Amino acid sequence: MSERDLLMIPGPINFDPGVLRAMSAPTAGHTAPEFVALFGETLDWMKQVFLAPSGTPFVIAGSGTLAMDIAASNLVQASDRVVQISTGYFGDRMVNIFERYGAKVTTLRADVGDVVALDLVDAELARVKPKVLAMTHVDTSTGVCVDVHAFAELGRKHNALVVVDGVCSVGGMELQQEAWGVDVAFTASQKAIGVPPGLALLVASPRALESFKKRESPVASYYSDWANWLPIMEAYLARKVAYFGTPAVNLVYALHESLRQILAEGMDKRVARHKKMSDAFKAGVNAIGLKQVAVRPDVAATTMTAPYFPDGIDAKVIGKIRERGVVVAGGLHSAIRERYFRVGHMGVISPADISATLSAIEGALLASGYKFDVGAGVAASEKAM
Ligand SMILES: *Cc1c(COP(=O)(O)O)cnc(C)c1O
Repeated sequence: MSERDLLMIPGPINFDPGVLRAMSAPTAGHTAPEFVALFGETLDWMKQVFLAPSGTPFVIAGSGTLAMDIAASNLVQASDRVVQISTGYFGDRMVNIFERYGAKVTTLRADVGDVVALDLVDAELARVKPKVLAMTHVDTSTGVCVDVHAFAELGRKHNALVVVDGVCSVGGMELQQEAWGVDVAFTASQKAIGVPPGLALLVASPRALESFKKRESPVASYYSDWANWLPIMEAYLARKVAYFGTPAVNLVYALHESLRQILAEGMDKRVARHKKMSDAFKAGVNAIGLKQVAVRPDVAATTMTAPYFPDGIDAKVIGKIRERGVVVAGGLHSAIRERYFRVGHMGVISPADISATLSAIEGALLASGYKFDVGAGVAASEKAM
């Protein structure tokens, strides 16, 4: 990949140069006063980005899958019941993780590209009476987005802890953790948060921590155990030193800078910008005749798009898009893997990036023999911008 290529996959994304520069500063000791102050401020800002003023933030070295592991291992004990809404690959992964910790999981699986109906979830919650209701806000394998607000309300009604995998949404789509009654929300640094891969980011509600404190059995994962991390996060929040595992100091520098930028833009504006870029990109994709995996606009994410290849075109077109300087991702959902591709448009995404990506897709389709009105995608996106 050339340094000038556009990385348009659903994470990692193109990072702001200021964030990358922050990361290259000399590494402080994790007990140095200036690092304690910076980490403390970073944790305060996490609560603002997650819109969870009463929440406890955790920043732990690892990928998004670690965040999933932390949520599952701390909240469930053997034989606890879980209802998982699965809209694709990552929902299914969450089921595996819950089961690894002994939970009895009822999986409500949506058809590919669709979501699970609210009344079905309501009925299953009434029947199963689970300890946890979990969902993936945006399943990155399909670009399908669920109505977290509505599902969380149902979870609350049935007295379940609500867990949201926000790895492809936090910092790009609206997720009001506290106001919507979400107990655990998490993401990873490399998606809409805009920081190189390597940090699991999670915020737990007071209810989630109460439930954790009432556990009878220890958390089976030593590294994920809140008993180890809670005192550390509480110490840094109070601008005090504590040690369990060495924090990823330079990634925390980058996170500090990125959260600063996110809050300077403002959460509402940022969400609106992502929607605008997404609407423009989707208008372009539609105009050149590509259907999306998400079956309706109201279930489509605004951080990414998953278009099907048109008839007669296969995954080889991805290589041709790359030759034009734009990197997009292949399929991930096993039922349709060879039939679609995935484009991320989150973080510091600009109108120029959207146009360049559509132009590269059009060029690659043209070179692959697809018959369409060349330029129509770029034109439609410009009109929607
Ligand atoms: C990327 C992603 C994950 C996994 O994150 P990793 O950093 O790859 O471990 C989990 N859930 C969703 C929705 C994701 O998009």
